Amino acid sequence: MINYHPTDKQLRQFAEGNISSALALVAAAHCDVCSKCQAKVDDVNLELASDIENIKAHTFSDPAFDKMLASITQLPVLDAPVQKSPRIELDGRFFDVPRPLQRFVKKTGNWSKLLGKVWQAPVDLGEAGMAHFIYMEKGGRVPEHTHRGTEFTLVVNGEFSDGLADYDSGDLIVMDDEHIHSPHSNADDGCLVFSIVDKPLHFTSGIARLLNPFSHLFFK
Ligand SMILES: [Zn+2]
Repeated sequence: MINYHPTDKQLRQFAEGNISSALALVAAAHCDVCSKCQAKVDDVNLELASDIENIKAHTFSDPAFDKMLASITQLPVLDAPVQKSPRIELDGRFFDVPRPLQRFVKKTGNWSKLLGKVWQAPVDLGEAGMAHFIYMEKGGRVPEHTHRGTEFTLVVNGEFSDGLADYDSGDLIVMDDEHIHSPHSNADDGCLVFSIVDKPLHFTSGIARLLNPFSHLFFK
């Protein structure tokens, strides 16, 4: 069950096209699997559309202005229809991903084993930077860390905990320098997440602290 949603403010900004591309991507992926949040975004879109109609009703007709309005009010097309949904593959296992992430499947690099039972594959988002698919096998754990920037994590498939809470498929988690956590999965099928960090992680405890000078090589 999904417990962690974008805030109402983030959903409004998403509908208005007024958030970072990283948050827009994970919010779109979340809304693809969360009808509750999708409904909120639809409401904001309707509201924005009626605002525009009101502006039009009180403005002298001007073809150039109408054309500009038409280009603003056109709903963004997230994805072209796909014949067969691309899926993420790891070790012969296939994972479905939310539609907004499907176009990045073929831009996903090779899996590498990180630490313990944690795997990572880089995803080239183009202008929006780099993201990663991270897979925690059962018993896998990412060392405790905090964040120099913001970390957006969407649970694609499975369950994990991080010492702060338990998460399930569809959850969207936003972490920054106020959070210290150590993601780990005890689920039999492990957990696949999609993660974007805008700055390298900062490991906070134990031997993982030795990784800090190199943390830009991991998770970034
Ligand atoms: Zn939601």
